[in-house]
Parts: sequence; C-alpha cells; structure tokens
Amino acid sequence: MKKSRVSSAGSPQLPDWHQYFMQIARVVKSRGNCVLYQVGAVLVQGRQIIATGYNGTPRGLPNCIEGGCARCKNKKTGKIRSGEHKGTCLCVHAEVNAILQCAYHGISTKGATLYSTTSPCMLCAKEMLNAGIIAVYYEYEDSGERESLTLLKKHMKEVVLLVP
Ligand SMILES: [Zn+2]
Ligand SMILES: [Zn+2]
Repeated sequence: MKKSRVSSAGSPQLPDWHQYFMQIARVVKSRGNCVLYQVGAVLVQGRQIIATGYNGTPRGLPNCIEGGCARCKNKKTGKIRSGEHKGTCLCVHAEVNAILQCAYHGISTKGATLYSTTSPCMLCAKEMLNAGIIAVYYEYEDSGERESLTLLKKHMKEVVLLVP
C-alpha cells in the first residue's frame, strides 16, 4: 500500500484523517451557491487546514441561486446545452476558490493536499498543478471529467477516490 503523507492511521475512536478532511469538505459544500451543483474543497498542509472553498459567483456579485450567473440559469432552464458557452459562466469552482483564498491571505499552496467532494475538472486540475498541489482526494467521480484525472494521476503524487 502506498504510504500517505497525511497518515490515515486512526484509533478505533478517531476518524481516519482523510475521512475527517472529507467530512469537512461536505460541510463546506453546503455553502455552494450555484444552481447547477454544489462542491466543497479543503486545502491541507500536513494536518492543518489552510483554506476552504465552495463553488459560486465571485465576491460582491449576487449568488448564482439569486440569478447571479446568466449562463447557469440558462443551462438550468434548458436554454443551452451542457458544455455550451462555458467561458461565459461566472461561477468559480470550489477547488479554485480554495486556492484563491490562499492568494487573498498570502498562504503558500506548495506541497498541499486538496480534498474535494467531486473530482476536479480540467480547468481546476491545471490550476491545482500550477499552485503546487501534489495530492488530491475526492469522493464522487464526475464521469465527464476523466481526462483531468488522467492528467492529475500523471503529475501528482496521489490521486485517490475516497469511498465514504
Ligand atoms: Zn452557477
Ligand atoms: Zn473545476
């Protein structure tokens, strides 16, 4: 078995560290304000949480669920199809928001591990690599995002589907 940097060894009374961070990611997900889906992410250095992120519109804009993103609204109502006008979407993904929270507060993401409730898309995967993130744990595999997982498996130390 691969030795993990965050030791998952728990005692019978304590949760496994990976499960612990994923449980927190699930709580973070509950703040996701996109009409299409909710995702939560937790960035960890060693055993310390350095940032969290959920998906939604940028700071200062109305939430997606309040009509803040026209593209999401049009996709939800079937006016546009999946994948169309992706570049016009105002929602920031959970993984990127966790990285940006570090940028905002001046915290290094080099060597960090990311826990996400959903497998990262290609956009997030690219940005995670350049943020120096070396491991990712996710608990739901987005079947439309297989290519990003292939990329991450090639360039990260650990890419792990965590079974709840
Ligand atoms: Zn949205
Ligand atoms: Zn993404």
